[in-house]
Amino acid sequence: MTLQILPFQLTLSHMRSLKDHATLSNGVNMPWLGLGVYLIPDGPPIVDVIHHAIDAGYRSIDTASFYQNEAGVGQAVNTCGLAREELFVTTKVWNDDLRQARTLDAFEESLDRMQLDYVDLYLVHWPVPGKFVAAWKALEEIYERGRAKAIGVSNFTVQHLEVLQQNSEMIPMVNQVEFHPYLIQPRLKAFCAQKNIQLEAWSPLMQGRAMNVPTIQQVAEKYGKTPAQIVLRWDLQHGVVTIPKSAQPARIIENATIFDFELSEEDMVVLDGLDCGQRVGPDPEDFVF
Ligand code: NAD
Repeated sequence: MTLQILPFQLTLSHMRSLKDHATLSNGVNMPWLGLGVYLIPDGPPIVDVIHHAIDAGYRSIDTASFYQNEAGVGQAVNTCGLAREELFVTTKVWNDDLRQARTLDAFEESLDRMQLDYVDLYLVHWPVPGKFVAAWKALEEIYERGRAKAIGVSNFTVQHLEVLQQNSEMIPMVNQVEFHPYLIQPRLKAFCAQKNIQLEAWSPLMQGRAMNVPTIQQVAEKYGKTPAQIVLRWDLQHGVVTIPKSAQPARIIENATIFDFELSEEDMVVLDGLDCGQRVGPDPEDFVF
């Protein structure tokens, strides 16, 4: 299957700075690049990391109730000196909480921990069979009440999205999935583009392993960039929102310095050629948590 590089309504001129954003199907703007904060400890460590990222120009933070650091995320947002509207905060409902009434409560608990009035994006973290439709109905309610500016899902396959579509009012605005040069999932990517569901890449750096892939290293050398910058730029040129994680100040800046160059179509194809369906995380068709 030929990979569609950028959705037709997008051009590279829409991604020239860290402030540039994708526009979701409901008109909400979501920054192309955000900071993933999985495994960054709650409390002072995460507050410092997020303040550093915001100083470096980041405007989007991706957390989850499962990460147990929502309190620190909220504290960083509330003390960074920027107006709340300038930041984009994502959190997710965990698998134990996927029942309609329980999901509504879990959402309020997340807001309480973060001391925020709303989130920009609320996601169903994993498509637990038999449960995700009920949880989605709760997310629709949260959206209708204006407590989440956008709602979406994570780790949903085409089949999960079809089940959701047949059983609900709204189509998710975002699908956050594992996405990197070893795992492009062309069918899912095309399906999301067709339904106007913004694709978002988790583990975009293959949890650090992308740095050791010779082809990525060669492309990096050619552009005078690092392997991390090449992969993150490749995400953008695919029209995929990306949320690399780092707690190291220098890497946080490095990962955001991807708006000053462009990969040629030829090099996009070279990187696309690495796709081998290899995951670094759990398979949404076969997980037990
Ligand atoms: P990632 O691919 O972002 O890799 C992070 C690791 O790569 C770091 O811990 C570090 O070891 C290394 N790294 C980062 N920048 C680097 C650089 N410039 N040079 C060299 N090494 C570098 O992996 P991730 O944390 O799994 O994914 C990113 C974010 O996605 C998470 O923090 C989380 O917010 C989200 N996520 C979501 C799900 C989900 O199910 N929805 C699952 C996993 C992760």
